[in-house]
Amino acid sequence: MLLIRNNAGLKVFIAEMKKKGHRIGFVPTMGALHDGHLALVKQAADLCDVVVCSIFVNPTQFNDPADLEKYPRPIARDIELLHSVGCDLLYLPEVADVYPPDLDTTLRLKPGALANVMEGEFRPGHFEGVMQVVKRLLDLVGPDLLVMGQKDYQQVSVIRYMLKKLRLPVKLHVAETIREADGLARSSRNVRLTRKWRSIAPVIHKTLSETRQNLAKMPPKQLAEAGFNALSDAGLRPEYFRIVDGTTLLEIKQPGKHEVIVACTAAWAGDVRLIDNIILKP
Ligand code: AMP
Repeated sequence: MLLIRNNAGLKVFIAEMKKKGHRIGFVPTMGALHDGHLALVKQAADLCDVVVCSIFVNPTQFNDPADLEKYPRPIARDIELLHSVGCDLLYLPEVADVYPPDLDTTLRLKPGALANVMEGEFRPGHFEGVMQVVKRLLDLVGPDLLVMGQKDYQQVSVIRYMLKKLRLPVKLHVAETIREADGLARSSRNVRLTRKWRSIAPVIHKTLSETRQNLAKMPPKQLAEAGFNALSDAGLRPEYFRIVDGTTLLEIKQPGKHEVIVACTAAWAGDVRLIDNIILKP
């Protein structure tokens, strides 16, 4: 595996791969890698000739400076893990490489309605930052395939919208969520959970799964309230628990009228914010 830190080196590598006619798969991450990230890399390797992974803790998508500072950065371990799953190139830039002062990296595209709800309500400006960094990384890497996780359902929706609006020539592959044995979605933030919160956190997936089982039995509003209360009763501090249309991300009233329905939630386990979702109706 090659490790490239600067844009000039990345450009040479990408040009060479394209000259050879190789299909490039790209997995953007913020590092502190776990099995969820590694599954994305493996899927990119199955679908493409070359896999590029980036590790960049993007400051523009953090609305909370403390969250940015506390974000884990075990880079030596990350390099070993990527190597072990057949990543071809790790792009490890500095902030100045992604956002050079002389380059206009602002994105004049508002994610609009998709970004106003859920994560957008509780993390103002988050999706503007996500769109900005993904657009910039796509410009630098120029992949054929972008691989992202369903774990961040709303993020995938916003990026899908961006690819379409900007007519970017890249396909999106969405990989399913990888979980711990007890159902907790793998997340870089899980390492910050104390033993107490780690034992409580699986209630998130348990509650989402129960929501799926009960979709036909209760009106969505009531079901969402029950989900929210179940998380509170377990000791978590939920921010939202919503049952939404899988395309618009707006709350639904009548399940029969929607093709895809998703339950999405965010909750604090102590000082760690966890998000998860489940597709109720595919
Ligand atoms: P992050 O490093 O948290 O920005 O995540 C990088 C990519 O990995 C995103 O596309 C996430 O959706 C994806 N991802 C994060 N956690 C998981 C998981 N448990 N299963 C599958 N994909 C994941």
